[in-house]
Amino acid sequence: MNQLSDNKIEFLKGVGPKKALILQKELGIFTFEDLLLCFPFRYVDKSRIHKAAEINDDNVYYQLLGTVSKIKAHGAPRTNRITAEFTDESGIIELVWFKGLSWIKTRFQPGKQYVIFGKASVFNNKFNFVHPEVEDYNPDDFTLGESLQGVYNTSETMKNHGLGTRQIARLVKTLLFQFHQQIPEVLPGPVLKQHGLLSRDEALHHIHLPADASMLQKATDRLKFEEYFFFQLHLLHNKLQHDKTIEGFRFASVGQLFNTFYHKHLPFPLTNAQKRVIREIRTDLGSGRQMNRLLQGDVGSGKTIVAFMVILLALDNGFQAALMAPTEILANQHYSSILEYAHDLRVSIALLTGSTRQKERQQLHRRLQDGSLQLLIGTHALIEDTVIFDNLGLVVIDEQHRFGVAQRARMYEKSSSPPHILVMTATPIPRTLAMTQYGDLDYSQIDELPPGRKPVETIHLYQSQRLRMIGFIRKQIQLGRQIYMVYPLIKESEKMDLINLMEGYEALLRDFPEPEYRICMVHGQMKAEDKDFEMQRFVKGQAHIMVATTVIEVGVNIPNASVMVIEHADRFGLSQLHQLRGRVGRGADQSYCILMTDFKLTADGRKRMQTMVETNDGFKIAEVDLQLRGPGETQGTRQSGALEFKLGNLAKDETLIRTVRKTVFDLLDRDNKLQQGENHCAKAYYEKLYKKQFDWSLIG
Ligand code: ADP
Ligand code: MG
Repeated sequence: MNQLSDNKIEFLKGVGPKKALILQKELGIFTFEDLLLCFPFRYVDKSRIHKAAEINDDNVYYQLLGTVSKIKAHGAPRTNRITAEFTDESGIIELVWFKGLSWIKTRFQPGKQYVIFGKASVFNNKFNFVHPEVEDYNPDDFTLGESLQGVYNTSETMKNHGLGTRQIARLVKTLLFQFHQQIPEVLPGPVLKQHGLLSRDEALHHIHLPADASMLQKATDRLKFEEYFFFQLHLLHNKLQHDKTIEGFRFASVGQLFNTFYHKHLPFPLTNAQKRVIREIRTDLGSGRQMNRLLQGDVGSGKTIVAFMVILLALDNGFQAALMAPTEILANQHYSSILEYAHDLRVSIALLTGSTRQKERQQLHRRLQDGSLQLLIGTHALIEDTVIFDNLGLVVIDEQHRFGVAQRARMYEKSSSPPHILVMTATPIPRTLAMTQYGDLDYSQIDELPPGRKPVETIHLYQSQRLRMIGFIRKQIQLGRQIYMVYPLIKESEKMDLINLMEGYEALLRDFPEPEYRICMVHGQMKAEDKDFEMQRFVKGQAHIMVATTVIEVGVNIPNASVMVIEHADRFGLSQLHQLRGRVGRGADQSYCILMTDFKLTADGRKRMQTMVETNDGFKIAEVDLQLRGPGETQGTRQSGALEFKLGNLAKDETLIRTVRKTVFDLLDRDNKLQQGENHCAKAYYEKLYKKQFDWSLIG
C-alpha cells in the first residue's frame, strides 16, 4: 500500500470526517496525495521588512514595521470606513478598513510597534493598504517568515469550516513532515537526470514551502514536467496500443487512377506542401496500420484535391471511400468539385444528403453494397445505419470540429476493420494543442497557399462610419464584384439576432434598390431548399450581395465574391472571423474584409479586431485565440477535461511540451510496456492516474 496515495484525507491529523467532506466537495481532495497536489496559486514574501519609502508598485505585497496613529472614522453619522496612518523611519502610508470597524478602532495603541503585511494599492495617486494583516511586534519572539509562503485557493464554505489558506498550509506542512523524504518518485531516474529535475519529494516540498524563489522555480518546473509527462504517456501509449492491435487495410500500390490523374489531368501544379502531405498519407496507407490523421490547412490551401487524390489511392486498391461534410451546401460543393476533378477518370461517384429522394437512396444503397459505387460524398446521412458499404477503406471528414467525436467513431463500424480516417480542418491548431489535444493523431499540415493569392485586406470600422462601408461596396459592385454581408446568429440571442438580420437586410434594400441591385439572403432558420435557391442566385452571379448568418462559414467557394462585411464582428470568435474572411480572396482580384463594430468594445474584442487587421496568418490568429480564451474554449468538441492542467499552460509551454513528448516517445520506443525496473514507478503511477478514465484513443 502506498501511504501517500491510499490514505484518506480524513485520517490526517487536524482533518477528521467533517473537514474531509468539505475538502472533497470543494477541492476534490480525497487522499493525502491529493492534498499535496493542491498547489498554492501564489506566494507572498515575508522574509524581510520593507520600508514605507520602498513601496513603488501596486499589487505587490509588502511587510512593514512601524507605528499606527491618527485612526479616523469616515462617513458620519454611520462609519463606513476607517483610515489610519502607518509610520516608520522612512515615511508614512495610509491603511484602510471597510469591515470589522469597531474592532479596528481599539486595535492600536499609540507608540507601539506593529508588523503590517498587505498588498499595496493606489488611491488618489498615493499608495495605501486595504485590510492589511496586522500583528503586534515583539522583538523577543519575532522571526522573519519563510522566504515565500504559499497562498491556497479556498472558498467561503471552506473558510467557515476552519479551512482558510493558513489552515490548508498547516495541513500541508503536517503532511510534508510526516512524509519527510519518503514521498515516492514517479518519474524514471534517467528522465530526472537527463532533464535535471528535482526529485518528487523535493519538488512537493518546495512548491509548498519554497526555500527561495529559485527552488520554487525548480519545483514548479519538475511538477509541470510530471504533469505533461503522464498526459503524453497516456496519448502515446494509447496510440501505440492502437497501432499494434488494430489492423489497417494496406493500400500497397499506387495504381492506374492515381497515376492517370497525376500525370494527365491535374488542373494545376500542386504546391510543395500538397505534394508532401500526399506523400505522408501515402506512406501511412501503405504501412498496414490503420491511419488516424489530422490534415490541417488554412482556408484556400487546397485540401480538396489532396482528399481526392487520397481517395483515388483507396479506389486503386479496390476499396470504397466516403467523404463527409458538415453541411448540405458543403457536401454539394465537394460533390461538384470532385466530379470536375474526376471528369476524365472512370470513377463512380454519388451524393447522399438529407434531401436525397427515397428512390434514389435505395438505388444508391444497393450500389454501395454490391460495390459498384466507389465514392460516396455526403452529410451526416452517411452515418445512418442503413448505409452499408461493400468494403469501405477510407473515410475523409471535412471540417472536423462540426462533427462530434461520437459521430466520427460510428464510421469505424462501417467496415470489417476500421477504415483509414483522414480528418481535414481549416481551423489552424496551435502547436501545443496539436501535441496535446490531438496528440494521439498523426498530423499533416499544408502550410503554403497556392501561388498568386493576394492577401485579403482587412479594415475595422465603427458603426458611425457606415456610409464609408456602403460607398465602398457600391464601388466594388460597379467593378463587377459580389459582396457577403454576415450577421451573427447564436442560440442564446436568436430572436434578437434574426431581427437584426432582417433590419440589416431592409436597410440594405434601401441603399441598394432593385432592380439595379439584387440582394439574396441565407440563414439557418430557412428550409434547405430555400437556402439552396438563394445560395444558387449568388453562386450564379444573379445577386450582388448575400446577406447571411454564419451558415456560410465553412467551405463555400465563390471566387468572384471579393468583399466580406462582418456585422457585430466583436461577437465572433477569432477562428470564426478567420474562417469568414477565408470566403473571400479566392479569385484574382484584391479582396477586402470589413469588420463593423460599435465604438465601445471590450479589451478582448478590441484585441480580436486588431489581430484580424494585423495578420492573415491562421496560425498567429490561433495562437492569439488560445491566449485569449484558453484551450477548452477554442476547440470545443473534444473532452475538455483533457486540457486542464494544474501548472501547465498551453498558451506558453510549447517548448516544454515538445521536450516532454519526445522524452515519452523515446521511452516507449525503448520499453513500450514500461517493464524495465527504472520505469516501474512511472507505470504504477500512470495506471492509477488514468484508471478511471475511458479510453479515447480510438476516437481521434
Ligand atoms: P480548402 O483547403 O479551403 O478546402 P480548396 O480545396 O477548396 O481549399 O481549394 C481552394 C481553391 O484553390 C480551389 O478553387 C482550388 O481549385 C484551388 N487550388 C487548390 N490547390 C491549388 C494549386 N496547387 N494551385 C492553384 N489552385 C489551387
Ligand atoms: Mg474545403
